[in-house]
Amino acid sequence: MKMSKMHIRTLREVPNEAEIPSHILLLRTGMIRKLVSGVYGFMPLGWRSLRKIENIVREEMDATGAQEILMSAVQPAELWQESGRWFAYGPELWRLKDRNGRDFCLGPTHEEIFTDIIRNDVSSYRQLPMNLYQIQTKYRDEARPRFGLMRSREFIMKDAYSFDRDYEGLDVSYKTMYDAYDRIFTRCGLTFRPVEADTGAIGGSNSHEFTAISEVGESEIAYCPKCSMAANVERADCRDAEPTPDSVEMLPMEEVHTPDTKTIEDLAAFLGVKTEETIKALLFVKYDEMGNEDGYVAAFVRGDRELNMIKLVNALGIPEHAIAFADEEAMGAKTGAVGGFTGPVGLHDCTVVVDSELPGLKNLVAGACRRDYHLKNVNYGRDYKGDIVKDIKVLKEGDPCPVCGEPVKHARGIEVGQVFKLGTKYSESMGATYKDENQEEKPIVMGCYGIGVTRTLAAVVEQHHDKDGIIWPVAVAPYHVIITLMKPDDEVQLALAEKVHDELSAKGVEVMLDDRDERPGVKFKDADLLGIPVRITVGRMAPEGKVEYKLRRDAEKVEMTAEEAVKAAVALVEAER
Ligand code: ATP
Ligand code: MG
Repeated sequence: MKMSKMHIRTLREVPNEAEIPSHILLLRTGMIRKLVSGVYGFMPLGWRSLRKIENIVREEMDATGAQEILMSAVQPAELWQESGRWFAYGPELWRLKDRNGRDFCLGPTHEEIFTDIIRNDVSSYRQLPMNLYQIQTKYRDEARPRFGLMRSREFIMKDAYSFDRDYEGLDVSYKTMYDAYDRIFTRCGLTFRPVEADTGAIGGSNSHEFTAISEVGESEIAYCPKCSMAANVERADCRDAEPTPDSVEMLPMEEVHTPDTKTIEDLAAFLGVKTEETIKALLFVKYDEMGNEDGYVAAFVRGDRELNMIKLVNALGIPEHAIAFADEEAMGAKTGAVGGFTGPVGLHDCTVVVDSELPGLKNLVAGACRRDYHLKNVNYGRDYKGDIVKDIKVLKEGDPCPVCGEPVKHARGIEVGQVFKLGTKYSESMGATYKDENQEEKPIVMGCYGIGVTRTLAAVVEQHHDKDGIIWPVAVAPYHVIITLMKPDDEVQLALAEKVHDELSAKGVEVMLDDRDERPGVKFKDADLLGIPVRITVGRMAPEGKVEYKLRRDAEKVEMTAEEAVKAAVALVEAER
């Protein structure tokens, strides 16, 4: 394709709303176009790369025996009410009404729709297992759309759903998808890590996220340098501290005057104790389905720990959007809490959630629920109890690995895909059953499997760029080769460039020919910015049939004959496409 005929608009300047390399480069190359916050369109080169990712996904899905379908983006509220997610999904669900006032949403994911298909179409064990998938536009009214395609409000997802007779079947389906994801992200050129994950609003038991390693990623993962433990920090178990030995006695509880000690650090310094010997309180208010306040929650962790919000909402059995920090005064009037001086002793009329290690620790310091006072020698069982006792703390870098005890490390990454064992969550709430060999009615056992196709495109750029632009892996590059023609009005040069173009095209290599009337400097800069894997420069050596061959990922430039260049490019593309 001749560049003079192509619709490409590259930008010299960095668009000011873009902060991270992938967002900057996808805008500067003109591959994506922003319409409004979190809503992007794809221009010719962007669409080509996106389709390559889609095709990799499609090939690998088809290879597992999954069948592609395409469902509508518009979904009726009734299905979401049946599954209970019309509320649980919260404000991210993009809701709309038709002219008669009937409620709909734009699908953020399609568990309800696929379960509905299956409950209508499947009745016998003979029809199972089955896996259906689609590559489709999703909508999520994200609180903070940002980083371009990374977190947008409209995006393309591949979502697959597996249907099995039993849990053994689900294990097989899950493993098949997991392995396909490994191949997909490898083929896309990503460096990634599968990690254990929370199941969030989707629900179910087990889950893994596929995380492309990147400093700009919004996922924080904890992994063990010694064993295979790797988990999203939201999900990572945290070992409880060793309990205080039996030989240590519970001392009498004592109130102490601790003026101006609002933080744990102030308090520990004031009393001359370690932060590990204190209890930290975090206060929340819950909301019901109508958005009304629905009671208070006090969560307690050891002073040096951090509260893990995801573990807390899971312990409470509520969605993340149904809880917020409490107004201290309002909560105090009802429960006895006192901002900065709240402890578990003397608190009333609220749900008390206690981290699992606190019951084992003796003689701790906690707020006295009285301004400027704390209590010393607070002991679980004797002085306070939790309504819920669970691990609600963050596994921090350096904490012992929950599996082997080695200090864990943290890394950041981009969640490009997630697989879930749903079990019977949707089939039970929506009545999707089948008859087994004995004519017994059983719920279908489900799994679901998502890939952010547009986010994957951004993740590839995030991992493959330098200061001059993108460095596309061959498999997802918009074109494989760019022929940079120095003087388009020089007949010899033009003829050689066209010959190289035609020979490569005939061999299935995707070529763009930069025949624009621009200075060489501009052309080289654009070629680097666009990141086309191979650059073949046709210039003053054209009369000898020679060109310059350069890979975007290497600095080296090699002079060779046009035939040699064609051969080298074909070999590269065949090996890496
Ligand atoms: P996140 O935690 O990043 O909000 P999620 O866990 O809610 O994502 P899933 O429901 O697992 O997302 O969706 C499947 C995949 O869709 C994700 O792994 C991700 O790659 C992609 N995805 C989800 N939300 C967005 C978004 N707002 N913009 C782009 N891609 C997204
Ligand atoms: Mg996810």
